[in-house]
Amino acid sequence: MAGNVTYTADGDVAVITIDNPPVNAFGFDVRRGVIEAMDRAEADSTVSSVVLTGGGRVFSGGADITEFGKTPREPSLPDVNTRCETMTKPVVAAIHGVAFGGGLEVSLSCHGRIASQDAKLALPEVKLGLIPGAGGTQRLPRLIGPEAALDVIVPGNPVGAQKALSVGLVDRIAGDDLLEDAKAFARELAAAPEKPSAVRDREDKLEAARRDPAAFDAHAADLTKKARGLDAPLACVRAVRLTLDTPFDAALAKERDIFIELMNGEQSKSQRHLFFAEREAGKVPGIGRDVKPRTVAKAAVIGAGTMGGGIAMSLVNGGIPVTILEMSQEALDRGMSVIRRNYDTSVKRGSISEEERDRRLGRLSTTTNYDDIGDADLVIEAVFEEMSVKKVVFGKLDEVMKPGAVLASNTSYLDVDEIAQMTKRPSDVLGMHFFSPANVMKLLEIVRGKETASDVVATALALGKRIGKVPVVVGVCHGFVGNRMLSSRSAENEDLLLEGASPADVDKAFLDFGFLMGPFAMGDLAGLDIGWRNRKSLGQTAVIADALCEEGRFGQKTGKGFYSYEDGPRDGKPDPWVNALIEEKAKELGVNRRNIDATEIVERTIYPMINEGARILEEGIALRPSDIDIVWINGYAFPVGKGGPMFWAEQAGLSHIVERLEYWHGKTGNSVFEPSALLRKAAKSGESLAEAMAAKGKVA
Ligand code: NAD
Repeated sequence: MAGNVTYTADGDVAVITIDNPPVNAFGFDVRRGVIEAMDRAEADSTVSSVVLTGGGRVFSGGADITEFGKTPREPSLPDVNTRCETMTKPVVAAIHGVAFGGGLEVSLSCHGRIASQDAKLALPEVKLGLIPGAGGTQRLPRLIGPEAALDVIVPGNPVGAQKALSVGLVDRIAGDDLLEDAKAFARELAAAPEKPSAVRDREDKLEAARRDPAAFDAHAADLTKKARGLDAPLACVRAVRLTLDTPFDAALAKERDIFIELMNGEQSKSQRHLFFAEREAGKVPGIGRDVKPRTVAKAAVIGAGTMGGGIAMSLVNGGIPVTILEMSQEALDRGMSVIRRNYDTSVKRGSISEEERDRRLGRLSTTTNYDDIGDADLVIEAVFEEMSVKKVVFGKLDEVMKPGAVLASNTSYLDVDEIAQMTKRPSDVLGMHFFSPANVMKLLEIVRGKETASDVVATALALGKRIGKVPVVVGVCHGFVGNRMLSSRSAENEDLLLEGASPADVDKAFLDFGFLMGPFAMGDLAGLDIGWRNRKSLGQTAVIADALCEEGRFGQKTGKGFYSYEDGPRDGKPDPWVNALIEEKAKELGVNRRNIDATEIVERTIYPMINEGARILEEGIALRPSDIDIVWINGYAFPVGKGGPMFWAEQAGLSHIVERLEYWHGKTGNSVFEPSALLRKAAKSGESLAEAMAAKGKVA
C-alpha cells in the first residue's frame, strides 16, 4: 500500500495499519494508502470485516499540518471518511495512544471504535484557530449528542478512554491486547444480523436538542464566554449547530466552507505559527539529546512571598517535594496560609479533590534553617529583588547545597552572572524566571548565564515541561526578553498621559488590540510600588506613576492607583483626581495637551516593543523571533489571534513598522523609536526577521 499503510489478513479480518512515524499523520500518502487498503478489503471475498489501526505508539495524531495552507491534494480526508463509511463490511477503529483531529474524525467514519485503556481522544483543531473540517462537527454530535460534542470540540482538550466510553465516543475498552479484541469486535459486527448503521445516518442523539435548541444555545454560550476575541470557538458552535436543522451532506459542505474561511484568516495563521513556535522553543543549540538533564527528585524554594509560594505550588503540583525556606516563622506561616487558601479555592471550584489538595500540601515542608535544604537537587530563590539580598542568599546556598545541585534565581531583572559569582560553582547557576501567578502562568524564561553548564539548562528545560510550563531559553540582560520589551514602552505610556490621553484611553486601545488588560489596569493589579522601587534603584523616574506612589496609591492593594477601586478590586473606575494630577503635571512640564487616537497609542507603545524585540535578537538574547512570540503569548497575554509581537509585526509589514518608528523618532527624539539595524535590514530586503538574522554579518 502507499504511504506506509500495511494490509494483512487474519482469517476473515483484514487489518489495515497506518505506519507513518512519529504520529501516523494523515498526510497525502496515508490517505491514499488507507483508501487502497479499504478497496482491497472490500474486494477480498475471504474478508468479512476490517480493523483500522496505527503502528507504533499511537492510532493517529491527525492531519498533516505541514499541508495546511498549501494546495489540497486528493484524496482528501473526507474522501477517506467516505471510503470507510461506505464499506459493505464493518470497519472497527482500534485506538491506542492518541486519536486526535483528523485521526479521530476517520475513526468516527468507522462502524465501531475500541480503545486501549490509556488512549486519549481529541478534536483539538480549535487550538489552531480551526474547526474539525473532516466531518467531526457533524458525526460526533450524532454519536454522543450535540451538547456533549461541544464539550469535546470547543475546548479541544483530550478525553481519556473511560470518559470516551461513558459518553459513547468509543464502544469498548480493550483488555491487554487491543488488536485481538478489535478483531473479535469486528467479527461480532460482521456476524450480527444487521450491519451497524454509519454514524452519519444516526439521528436519535440529535432529537433532544432539536426539540429544545435554546438549551443547546445556552450551553454553547457558557462554553464560549472565554473565547477572548477568537473566532474558532464560535465557529465550532456554528458548525455543530448545523446538526439541528441541516441535512448531513449540506452541513458537511458548510463545515468545509467554515474550515477554509478560518484556515485563510489571520487568527488561524497566527495560531498555527504559535503551534510550531512552541515546539521550536524547546530546541536549543548545543543541548541535544546527548545532554542529560540532572535528576530533580527534591526541591527547595527560598522566600514564601508572592512568587516563592506560586513556584512551590507549581513544583508540588508536578509531584516534586519542596521545602520552603524563609527568614522567620511568621513569614512562613503567612506564605503557607496563602498556599492553603489557593488550594481550598481549587477544591471549591472542583478543579482538584480534597485528597489531591492534601497530597499536594503533604509534599510541602518549611524551614528557617539552611541545613534543612542542603540535599535538594534544585533550589529556586525568590527573595526581594535586591542584588545585595540575592548575593547573601547565593553565598549561603554555595555553603550548604550538595555538589551538583542546580541553583536558580527567579530574579526579574538582575544580572544572573553577577549572582553566579557569589558561588564557587557558577556553572550550576541560572535564572528560572516564573511569571505571576507562578502556579498559573505558563511561561518560564530560562536565563542561561555566561558559565551555566549545558546540563543545567537541560535540567531547567526538562523540569519546566514536567511541571506544565512553556520554557524559553534566553540570555542575560536587564529584564531578559519579556520585561525588557515591556520596559521599552513604559516611558511612552507616561508621555501619552501627559500629552492628552487618559489611562482609560490607553487601556482601551490595548483592549481593542486584543489584550485582556491595558498597561495601567495591569500596573494597578501588579502593584505600582514594584516599578517605583525598581526605578528608584536605577535612578529613573516616571512623573505620573511616581506621584501616585508618593500619595500611597499602589493600585488595587491600596484601593487606589491609576483607577480607584471603591467597589472592589475587580472594578476600577477612572478617577478625576488622577486626571487632574496629569493635567497639573503636564502644565508644570509645559506639555500642550491634545486628542490622541488609538492608532497613535498602538504605534507609540507596541512598536517600540517590537523594536526592542529586534534588538534582543541582534544581541542574541533570544534565539529566534518565534521565541519572543512564545514569551509574550504565555507570559504577558499578548493576543493569541495575533501570534505574538514579532509575528504580528511581520504581518503588519516591517517596512511600515520602520517607517512609523522613524516618524515617532523624529517627532519625540526618544531612542525607543530608533529602528534597530535588524528591523531596517529586513524592511529593506523584504526578508522575514528570521531570514535577516540567518544572513549573518549583514545587519549593520
Ligand atoms: P515578595 O516580597 O512577595 O516575597 C519575597 C519573600 O522573600 C518575602 O516573603 C521575604 O520574607 C522573603 N525573603 C527576603 N529576604 C530573604 C532571605 N534573605 N531569606 C529568605 N527569605 C527572604 O516578592 P515577590 O513578588 O515574590 O518577588 C520575589 C522575586 O521574584 C523577586 O526577585 C522578583 O523580582 C521576582 N519576580 C516577581 C514577580 C511578581 O510579579 N511579583 C514576577 C516574576 C519574578
